[in-house]
Amino acid sequence: MLKLQNVSKHYDNKVVLNNINVEINTGEIVSLLGQSGSGKTTLLNIILGLTKMNDGKIIFNDIDISDVTMKNRGFNIVFQDYALFPHLNAYENIVYGLKNKKGLVTEKEVQEYIEFLELKPHLTKKIGELSGGQKQRVALARTLVMKPKILLLDEPLSALDGVIKESIKQRIQSIAREFKLTTIIVTHDPEEALTLSDKILIINQGEISQFGTPKEIINEPKNDFVKEFILKQLQIKRQNIYNLFGETDV
Ligand code: ADP
Repeated sequence: MLKLQNVSKHYDNKVVLNNINVEINTGEIVSLLGQSGSGKTTLLNIILGLTKMNDGKIIFNDIDISDVTMKNRGFNIVFQDYALFPHLNAYENIVYGLKNKKGLVTEKEVQEYIEFLELKPHLTKKIGELSGGQKQRVALARTLVMKPKILLLDEPLSALDGVIKESIKQRIQSIAREFKLTTIIVTHDPEEALTLSDKILIINQGEISQFGTPKEIINEPKNDFVKEFILKQLQIKRQNIYNLFGETDV
């Protein structure tokens, strides 16, 4: 379980995160949802260990990891632009991080991740020859072979559309279920958060506006911000939500 206790962050006089308290259970998919500039990426980077918080604690499986380095935390991130190496092929990208990690995974396990993400036909292709969805799957495979204790995804669907977006969504869900892998996702899109996650942390100007399941957020929005933010952006996508959750007040 991951617990954030009173996590705060400021840059000079600007408060970016104010007193964030949240508990994420093992294997849960949690979206950090908010408008641009609300503090989502900062929170993701604090969890990863890339950005230092000014106040608060991070507890992982009952151990205080607040001062543990990014490397020693063992959480891994897939960046929004995937950050794949263009001069290497898909397979070389997938195993790149294993170079100095002898014994972390066997070749058989690597092949299992490759099969799981249906990447076998693409292994010898250069990154430039892959579609957006294939690139995302390579990025996911490259991260999974590192056996992350928590998987962090920064806007994983933003570069994808339509059918490919749906298929990556399902893959993220099956990864979390299959490997019981806690997955934390940054998104600015309410529909993505509602259809992808077990729980959603809505952040407004560095503060938690609501933390709950998609159903709770749709049916019991805690305040006007949640109502406005979710409803406004969902008006055109209303039918999708009806289909997913049945009759609601949307
Ligand atoms: P989001 O991911 O929700 O778009 P961010 O976490 O990237 O938001 O940013 C939240 C706020 O913190 C923004 O106002 C941004 O300008 C500010 N910020 C982020 N990183 C820095 C930094 N390194 N120095 C100063 N301000 C920063």
